[in-house]
Amino acid sequence: MLAPKLREPPLAPVNVAPFELSGATMGTTWRLRAFAPPGFNAKRLETEIAAVLAAVVDEMSPWEAHSALSRFNALAAGETLPAPLHMRCVLEDALHVAGETDGAFDPTLGVLVDLWGFGARAPAQDKPREDDISAALAHAGWRKLTFEDDALHQPGGLRLDLNGIAKGYAVDAAAEVAAAAGLTSYLMEIGGELRAAGIKPDGQPWWVELQQPPGGAGERLLLALYNETVATSGDYIRHDIVDGEEIAHTISPFTGKPLRNGVASVSVLHASCMRADAYATALSVMGVEAGLAFAARADIAAVITARREGALTEHFSPRAAAMLED
Ligand code: AMP
Ligand code: MG
Repeated sequence: MLAPKLREPPLAPVNVAPFELSGATMGTTWRLRAFAPPGFNAKRLETEIAAVLAAVVDEMSPWEAHSALSRFNALAAGETLPAPLHMRCVLEDALHVAGETDGAFDPTLGVLVDLWGFGARAPAQDKPREDDISAALAHAGWRKLTFEDDALHQPGGLRLDLNGIAKGYAVDAAAEVAAAAGLTSYLMEIGGELRAAGIKPDGQPWWVELQQPPGGAGERLLLALYNETVATSGDYIRHDIVDGEEIAHTISPFTGKPLRNGVASVSVLHASCMRADAYATALSVMGVEAGLAFAARADIAAVITARREGALTEHFSPRAAAMLED
């Protein structure tokens, strides 16, 4: 069990009833579980959440030819695109994490993501050739991405991919809509990324189970989320078969190749789900040792599951270890 040591637990809501909303988004599902006072307009909240999620997809989906992201990716060298609101928030955070992680998280890997067949464009062949990988690497690089006022500058051939951070942002955006509607106790989820607020009427926090790779020897890890979020990256969550080999969807920006560094899974807890999502991807790239060292230095609560010769082991950053209870 992982539970934070709280100085002051949140107040339990009174005179509330549970309800649940859900829908489809980003190739997966969203779900809100919450407690609301009598007369709460859940139908209206459902419409508002669906609208904010649609806006996020509209701006950042590489699968939508008309998204702002797709339009930026199609620009010629020297052209600019005004970045819409959600995309600007995500890009600012993405560039911050890119800098902090020395480029382990890189929002400009679109060409590589497509080359390996994980993106919206079908790859030319099964397994990329070395010279295609080098060419795609030459196009990437978060330092090439610049804003002039609020316009994004296309240096030529740079393709954004925000799939490693946008889902976390979408969780935050939907949760803010729920909070603005007056809810104080809820759990918002999109495809395994979670954000909780408050506690339940019975005084219990929102307990969630940490996503872990199948075949783990360890016990299920339960997590008490108090005004906190968790995001997980794992080679068992998104992977492909290339030439008969299982390939993770996370790419090393240093080699241009999918990760093969023994990281099976990374979960990160953070106040911001966007940040948790980006860090989970970044720590995966860094690998077990460097990822744990970074999480210790940056005081990030992270659980990394390593896979060595088929066996799984769990590693906790100091901040996560401090939350461990039996
Ligand atoms: P996640 O689901 O958060 O683990 O992110 C995986 C997705 O992020 C991949 O499917 C790619 O679209 C994208 N991606 C892959 N490698 C990286 C990277 N090194 N930095 C940022 N995004 C990446
Ligand atoms: Mg991520």
